[in-house]
Amino acid sequence: MDKKMLDILVCPLCNGKLSLVNSPQQLICRFDRLSFPFDEDIPVLLAEKSTALTAEQLEQFDE
Ligand SMILES: [Zn+2]
Repeated sequence: MDKKMLDILVCPLCNGKLSLVNSPQQLICRFDRLSFPFDEDIPVLLAEKSTALTAEQLEQFDE
């Protein structure tokens, strides 16, 4: 995914920055603890399509 595109994408709930995670590719909002899926390389930034993440799952995404 284009890094410039990542810079302009924000969480639809909090308007916060999103983090790109791979395998599977997804965008996560650490504030809302939500994961947004990709549909054929297009990020689906819809609250109703997002998945709630646990604190443990979020920790796994930290480098
Ligand atoms: Zn958010």
